[in-house]
Amino acid sequence: MSEPIAFVPRAGFEQADAWLGALRQAMPGETIVPVGAMGEAQRRAVKVAIVANPDPQDLGALPGLCWIHSVWAGVERLVADLGETDLKIVRLVDPQLATTMAEAVLAWTLYLHRDMPAYARQQRDALWHPLPYRRPGARTVGLLGLGALGEAAAAVLRAAGFQVRGWSRQRKAIEGVECFAGVQELDLLLERSDILVCLLPLTPQTTGVLDAARLARLPRGAQLINFARGPIVVEAALKDALDAGHLRHAVLDVFKREPLSADAWEWRHPAVTVLPHISAPTDRETAAQIVAGNIRRWRASGVLPPTVDARTGY
Ligand code: NAP
Repeated sequence: MSEPIAFVPRAGFEQADAWLGALRQAMPGETIVPVGAMGEAQRRAVKVAIVANPDPQDLGALPGLCWIHSVWAGVERLVADLGETDLKIVRLVDPQLATTMAEAVLAWTLYLHRDMPAYARQQRDALWHPLPYRRPGARTVGLLGLGALGEAAAAVLRAAGFQVRGWSRQRKAIEGVECFAGVQELDLLLERSDILVCLLPLTPQTTGVLDAARLARLPRGAQLINFARGPIVVEAALKDALDAGHLRHAVLDVFKREPLSADAWEWRHPAVTVLPHISAPTDRETAAQIVAGNIRRWRASGVLPPTVDARTGY
């Protein structure tokens, strides 16, 4: 019988019981115990914990802990909370999540591509005014981030006929996608992006990367979709660019503070579509299966899945 696995959610996490149930169902041979319900001997024996925004103190109560598996794809909060640590962090990489995000990217790209915000405004004013049509092939979508989610998004955008450009830290080779890499090539991507889609992780390097100067690099009338994290875009610079008409529209799923407060300017700005962080919700069942597979392979071989790089923060 293997040592137990600790389940460490943040206090007050509403879905904790549902996650525990899904994890236990996916790993019937494992003993998964909420950290708060563990006795001293159990806590001492734990080597792996499954976490959902854990309180670092809870992890500190597990002296033999070697690695943690997050049930979320984004780990910036976890990395910040843990600070310098020898703990290995594994994040969720779920093909279902990538498929869900790619669907959202395509849906909201088409929303902007087919001028739906403008037609909604026109209907409010009973205005019959056809806008010029542009083929997707005449429109370039720039993807910031070509990771698990960005690459899946690139594939659906290509299939829909858009010109696709992508940007990552290290250069990628993706068929049909013009790939740019490193901060020195960011402007090249921005200059041609009619629709810019952000799928970057939040790290010290990406915080505020879309500032006034970078937004000014986009073609006049460009549109933005941020499905990554709020602080990647400098909020005041975004508002200025929208107010000035340099940016035509922004679809924002993520914000510096969530939920977005009722008095936030984004709710009422005519050129902003606000979404409540729904572009790619984690699917508990498929995520639990991914976690189970990673733990099974580790039990069998001692090998961990790729871990978060503490230096880069993702
Ligand atoms: P990932 O596989 O780690 O990919 C991240 C991509 O960003 C990689 O291509 C990486 O470049 C690039 N990148 C990172 N730092 C960079 C920098 N300084 N300059 C240029 N490129 C940089 O992450 P993922 O699974 O695709 O997820 C991306 C983010 O989506 C998550 O971190 C999370 O915040 C967000 N997310 C949002 C939702 C939602 O519902 N809104 C849901 C899930 C995830 P390299 O390829 O060179 O490493």
